[in-house]
Amino acid sequence: MRPFEYERATDADGAVALADAPETMFLGGGTNLVDLMRLGVERPARLVDVTRLPATIEETEQGLRIGASVRNSDLANDGRVPTLLADALNAGASPQLRNLATVGGNLLQRTRCPYFQDVTKACNKRRPGSGCPAREGDHRNLAILGHSPSCVATHPSDMAVALVALGAEVHTSTRTISMLKLHRLPDDAPERDTVLEPGELITAITVPWHDDRSAYVKVRERASFSFAVVSVAVRALADGWAIALGGVAHAPWRAYAAEEALRDGASFADAADAELSAAEPLRENAYKVELARNLIVSTLEELSA
Ligand code: SF4
Repeated sequence: MRPFEYERATDADGAVALADAPETMFLGGGTNLVDLMRLGVERPARLVDVTRLPATIEETEQGLRIGASVRNSDLANDGRVPTLLADALNAGASPQLRNLATVGGNLLQRTRCPYFQDVTKACNKRRPGSGCPAREGDHRNLAILGHSPSCVATHPSDMAVALVALGAEVHTSTRTISMLKLHRLPDDAPERDTVLEPGELITAITVPWHDDRSAYVKVRERASFSFAVVSVAVRALADGWAIALGGVAHAPWRAYAAEEALRDGASFADAADAELSAAEPLRENAYKVELARNLIVSTLEELSA
């Protein structure tokens, strides 16, 4: 592992000041970043530990404002958290990892594409311009929607999918961003997972109040495999449904086409087809299209029963 400086911040301004140096990264629970450093995928010159920033959960007019340093397990166990978010948190990783992982770190975890994690392989996300061997290689668990010739990776967070369905906002050291806009599709710059600028720190998220019927359903390849092959977050609204998919794209995928079709009176199956007509599966992951379709339909049926 490359030697690095370690700094510990106690407030957001101090963290941002400490990050004003080349090749600096913020360190949350470290459940993904430390692994990537061991593998040589991430090689920061400085780490700014932000786990000592206030880990508060506050009730505001807009909703529940959750500090970025709140641990995933603490958030899942807070009785004020929407069930959809708690269910998504509890679907992620293991209890031990959830005790360590922070909200900010969860949002910024990186793809588990096998080529990204192997420094002996080419990968546009890790080394821009080197190529994407996943397109022709092992892509069984990669994207079917919104991918590009540069990258077909998926985003691994369960929590982010629920936050997209909930219409959450992300607060950073410089601005507030809709959860829908935080993560990017790869286009021709897959090295950028989010719209955040260097040194921009996620400080909190706000989850709007709601008591809607909702469900988070996740399909794993096997019981011990913690990342979603496909997942769906569905929330019943007064005038329709909010639907987000995980495991299918470089970012949590809000299913606008399905939502619109449902508002227009389409059946659940037709609404799912409307969404997935945009899918561009690769040689070995067409099964995800059918899986996503079935998951949308069965979850809507369950919530309507
Ligand atoms: Fe790298 Fe993305 Fe291709 Fe995976 S899919 S090898 S992360 S460029």
